[in-house]
Amino acid sequence: MSQPEVAASVVVIGGGPGGSTAATMLARQGHRVVLLERDHFPREHIGESLLPASIPVLEELGALPEVQQAGFLQKWGATMIWGKDPSPWSWYFKETNQRYPHSYQVFRPEFDQILLDNSRKAGVDVREGHRVTQVIFDDGRAVGVRCESTSGEPTEIVASFVVDASGQSGLIARQLALRQWDPFFRNLAVYGYFTGAQRLPEPDDTNIFIESYSQGWLWTIPLHTGVASVGAVVDSKIGQEGIRKLGPQGFLMDQLSQGTATAALLRESNLTSRANVVRDWSYVCQQMAGPGYVLVGDAACFVDPLFSSGVHLALMSGVLAAALATSAISDPEMEEAAGQVYQELYFQEYNQFRELAKLFYSSNLSSDSYFWEARRLTGKDAAFTARQAFIRVVAGQPPRGYERAVLERGEAPPEFKSSIAEVEADRAQRQTTLNSFFTPDGIMHPVFYDAVPFLDQGVGIKRKPVLGQGRFDWGNVLTTSSQPEGTPCSTLVAEIVSLIDGRTSISGLKAKLQEGRDQSHADIIERTLITTVHILYVDATISQLTPPQ
Ligand SMILES: Cc1cc2nc3c(=O)[nH]c(=O)nc-3n(C[C@H](O)[C@H](O)[C@H](O)COP(=O)(O)OP(=O)(O)OC[C@H]3O[C@@H](n4cnc5c(N)ncnc54)[C@H](O)[C@@H]3O)c2cc1C
Repeated sequence: MSQPEVAASVVVIGGGPGGSTAATMLARQGHRVVLLERDHFPREHIGESLLPASIPVLEELGALPEVQQAGFLQKWGATMIWGKDPSPWSWYFKETNQRYPHSYQVFRPEFDQILLDNSRKAGVDVREGHRVTQVIFDDGRAVGVRCESTSGEPTEIVASFVVDASGQSGLIARQLALRQWDPFFRNLAVYGYFTGAQRLPEPDDTNIFIESYSQGWLWTIPLHTGVASVGAVVDSKIGQEGIRKLGPQGFLMDQLSQGTATAALLRESNLTSRANVVRDWSYVCQQMAGPGYVLVGDAACFVDPLFSSGVHLALMSGVLAAALATSAISDPEMEEAAGQVYQELYFQEYNQFRELAKLFYSSNLSSDSYFWEARRLTGKDAAFTARQAFIRVVAGQPPRGYERAVLERGEAPPEFKSSIAEVEADRAQRQTTLNSFFTPDGIMHPVFYDAVPFLDQGVGIKRKPVLGQGRFDWGNVLTTSSQPEGTPCSTLVAEIVSLIDGRTSISGLKAKLQEGRDQSHADIIERTLITTVHILYVDATISQLTPPQ
């Protein structure tokens, strides 16, 4: 019989990066948070290679100084052997990100422990050795959980909100049958830890190294402990067959021997762990938030590990989930709309990595093996519907280096390349048109004020929850046909867009904006108007800027 417990404001299931991030952010908002973790930390976990996009989140959590002091290797980029050319090529985060030019190759037992201890310090009631057996729903709303301690003692915790960060266990997803498997990425990963692995030559010695081969691809991640995490991603069926014949260790060693460069790095090394096998199927949940609950990190979705995006997605969604829970508790009427925005934001970020992984998988022309051919064929169905897919990919921040790298190698499918050329030519043409409104000394020509802007089809302003300080608040988003979910914008920009009607000139817009406003703000209003028109025109959100007749 379960023992009812003191109610918590929020119960978090799972103490991985997603759960500890959500819990810390929630405790900071003053909630009473109970975090239930099945295992006792430090516990083993795959997923060592981080992205720089995680650094600002670690900073916000207050965990960055400890991560910096842990001695993890700084990861400055990646080195790959992919496609036709057998020579390795590297790219560096600093090429596109000056502010956060590196991330870390972390030893997960230590990294996850730092984040969980950080939650404790923030006031979270962390209970290790507590496995959640069920999420309790009342009339469709999550109202708490049942759990069991390692000694078998059952407990029931009643909560206003449940954050499911149970990783691939996906407690709520399984309970509500929400998981949809991705037919494109049905792989299996086999991996282990090696001592004595050689590093790449400097300056790439702390990079992740990825090598494609006929059966799939291999990773080598150097760690500060002196070991290297090394693994193979192969087709799920072929992997299972191989493991049946050779056993996990035999199969791992056999795969690693097939990557020429990886085998060279491992020549003097020894496998010092068991060989682990994990199902590496990508999935997404059709609903990532619902009444009284939200899914975070791998509990919500999992994307192929090629771009080391898992921990970043877990941290990012942990921050967003905390904001969603805070808004849902304080303003129940906003819960559903904020949940939809949570899902859109998560899916947008997830999709960037999925599209890129798909691009890499579909463009590996090096091998005619079953693995690559199967993925090239599947990729043809939906992947590169040109412009919109491209815009979605390049609009995001973290993975830019990757997609530029593949484009420079000339491996991208022709549709994708032509859509990039089209977008770039369009932007250049628009910039030239805008420049014609300036005098050679960079002064705005008076005719600019007579020009009439037209909005592109599908452009509009919607009122929606937008992410504010630790919570969602009602705000404005600018929607376009390629980003129907919208981009948050200020009230003034929303007003400018709402006033663009295809008849009013820039000076007309200026006059309307200044109506009823304090004249001391005239300058800032005019500058905002000019900048907004400029940005929206180059982006083609303003489709035409018709010069006066
Ligand atoms: C082969 C492979 C390679 C990868 N490589 C990388 C990489 O290089 N970089 C990267 O960023 N990501 C990588 N990932 C992905 C990464 O491992 C995950 O995305 C990340 O750990 C997700 O964090 P999370 O907090 O959502 O889940 P997890 O880290 O899995 O944490 C979930 C926690 O929930 C606990 N739990 C589960 N069930 C229950 C329950 N019923 N009750 C209580 N607690 C429970 C678990 O014990 C666990 O501690 C890789 C994944 C795979 C499969």
